[in-house]
Amino acid sequence: MKPYLKRAWAEISLSRLKQNIETIKSLNSDSTEIMAVVKADAYGHGDEEVCKYLSEECGIKYFAVSNLDEAIAVRGFCPDSEILILGYTPPEYAHEIVQYNIIQGVVSSEYAENLVRNADSPIRCHIKIDTGMGRLGLKHDTPEECVEEVESLMNNKGLSVEGIYTHFAVADSQETDNILYTNRQRDFICNVNDILIKKGINLRHTHFMNSASVCYSNSPKSTLARAGIIMYGLHPDVSLEIPENIKPVMAVKAVISHVKTVKKGDCISYGRTFTAEHEMKIATVTVGYADGYPRLMSSRGEILVHGVRCKITGRVCMDQIMIDVSHIETKAGDIVTLIGEDGDDSITADEIATTCGTIGYEIICGISKRVPRIYIK
Ligand SMILES: *Cc1c(COP(=O)(O)O)cnc(C)c1O
Repeated sequence: MKPYLKRAWAEISLSRLKQNIETIKSLNSDSTEIMAVVKADAYGHGDEEVCKYLSEECGIKYFAVSNLDEAIAVRGFCPDSEILILGYTPPEYAHEIVQYNIIQGVVSSEYAENLVRNADSPIRCHIKIDTGMGRLGLKHDTPEECVEEVESLMNNKGLSVEGIYTHFAVADSQETDNILYTNRQRDFICNVNDILIKKGINLRHTHFMNSASVCYSNSPKSTLARAGIIMYGLHPDVSLEIPENIKPVMAVKAVISHVKTVKKGDCISYGRTFTAEHEMKIATVTVGYADGYPRLMSSRGEILVHGVRCKITGRVCMDQIMIDVSHIETKAGDIVTLIGEDGDDSITADEIATTCGTIGYEIICGISKRVPRIYIK
């Protein structure tokens, strides 16, 4: 009996997830707790297994998601956790926020009113402040003005305000200008909190750290570190180093379905974009863009076979890819590595992203539902 179809699959290493969590903990101050960002199916790693493991084996209490569906799912996996919705919940679902004991990010007074109108008990919330991301949140020129709006939200009986937070736009850059920008964002929200404290208002949470900030602008003033990408072992930005102990959690594998010899002049794959210039050995691999492997890797990417890099020849198809295996011994049934380590070499999602002109985030989130996630130690 087969536990899963050995065609294309993702191996999720839970021990690495734990190692990454331990590393993040060691970087953070004692005053900062990790809020595990598990939106988008835990960045493609599978939210059920990841949330249960984080909660039961890693002591994680705080989770962040993008929407109500994700929040309700996480509530099912981790009954005692604190769950923050970072994104938009349509106000007509406000009663479900209350029902599932979720914390909603509140981005404006108008939005707060709409939520409150649709719930009959107070909605737990963190107030989002836009300090420079330009996406969501209260927007003010000065911390003093911002405090006024926060206070008026706190006076709303329909809300239970437990914190304030903001999101950094360029914490993944070490350019002087960008460092100053991040510091200004940090100072703005910290000033808001300081003024509130002076007025006798002590919020439980003020948070602004993301993965990049954990690595490059760690601050004890952030009560939570909303860690996403480094928890999964990738770089916030490939041009900057991350701690050595942070390792990719996901590997993607497939198998060889067919090996053949082609002659000079033979074409490979759709569009005839690849023509053999000499006799070659070509293998077909059981994965394609419908599995989330980018079509932009056509004739550019490499796949590991027995620890050796093999070039993709021609276009990536929906379900299959052809590679040049002229330099190695291989046969149908052999396992290949699209993302992960094999022998002495490895290909990361960050490497694939760089080849495609995008970020590792998009690659791991894009590994499709068709690819079963297999959890290993
Ligand atoms: C996605 C997200 C994060 C996590 O970002 P990483 O770079 O993956 O750590 C943190 N905060 C907010 C508001 C987000 O939307």
